[in-house]
Amino acid sequence: MQTPFEMGGVTIVPGSRTTVNLPVPNLSTAAPMTIPVQVIHSKQAGPRLFVCAALHGDEINGVEIIRRLMRLTVMRRLRGTLIAVPIVNVFGFVSQIRYLPDRRDLNRSFPGSAKGSLASRLAQLFIQEIVRHATHGIDLHTGAIHRTNYPQIRADLDHAETHRLAVACRVPLLINAGLRKGSLRETAGRYGVPVLVYEAGEALRFDENCIRVGVAGIVNLMRALDMLPHARGQAEEPAPLIIRSSSWERAPVSGVLRATAELGSLVKAGEQLGVISDPFGENEMAVKSPDSGIVVGRITLPVVNEGDALFHIGHTTGTKAAAEMLDAYDKDEAYHDEATSELKQEPPIV
Ligand SMILES: [Zn+2]
Repeated sequence: MQTPFEMGGVTIVPGSRTTVNLPVPNLSTAAPMTIPVQVIHSKQAGPRLFVCAALHGDEINGVEIIRRLMRLTVMRRLRGTLIAVPIVNVFGFVSQIRYLPDRRDLNRSFPGSAKGSLASRLAQLFIQEIVRHATHGIDLHTGAIHRTNYPQIRADLDHAETHRLAVACRVPLLINAGLRKGSLRETAGRYGVPVLVYEAGEALRFDENCIRVGVAGIVNLMRALDMLPHARGQAEEPAPLIIRSSSWERAPVSGVLRATAELGSLVKAGEQLGVISDPFGENEMAVKSPDSGIVVGRITLPVVNEGDALFHIGHTTGTKAAAEMLDAYDKDEAYHDEATSELKQEPPIV
């Protein structure tokens, strides 16, 4: 049996779904501002998972992932506690920008302080009101503006339990990612709360496939934590591709890029990824892959300056594992079981 707890001055009782609007500093107009949080606190004791999005205010795929997740009828059978925070950086979200108004990065401002910058104060509030109540977390991101990512989980794969949970999401690609100082993932980890990062799609855009893989991934994660009933007759898990090193191929010259390597495609060392040319096509320069690998991220804006990061290549020792993963991964079948199949009734976002 669970006990009640306090969040933002609201008592969350077992067997309830409660919306809490966490007060944050006012807008400059003096209008009040809050971070919306919804908590499903079941009667049965179990893990306490937070799911958050838009830590970077322009990364909106996760906002839609959380909306779909919270509408699932299977949440009535939740064990433990689900804490959903669809828009963490509310100031960036309303301005449609990645950062806070003073250009600080919230995801470099943890653990934060009550006397620091606005970003630092939000970080501290998030630790106090969300992370402190949680045992696990998943943080939803997209590529930066004009950059898109193939659906991937970033996590510390050398940590056994984190590795188990990352694989359980059944997201096609896992990237072993070092901890960045000041990030939510690094700080929560220090508090004993392992956090996975789901990265998919592009800032300021919805991507239906990335949203579906994300919803299914969180449901799978919650099953691995015994928070949701296990799926009946679930197919053998296709092994995710694990990437342990990656590099960005940068623009060798400025110009207009004609990209030819698709996101998620396999490339060989020396293979052409695109061509940069001047407006008349008199000078063309090929962009080639430095290594064999998979295109895990790429630019979406064709206008490039020398040095711009164009293609993010996840290095694969052999392409066999990558080919097997891509074969096993059917992007139209993210809603493959009884928990998520009801979402097929919703028209896809196009
Ligand atoms: Zn981000």
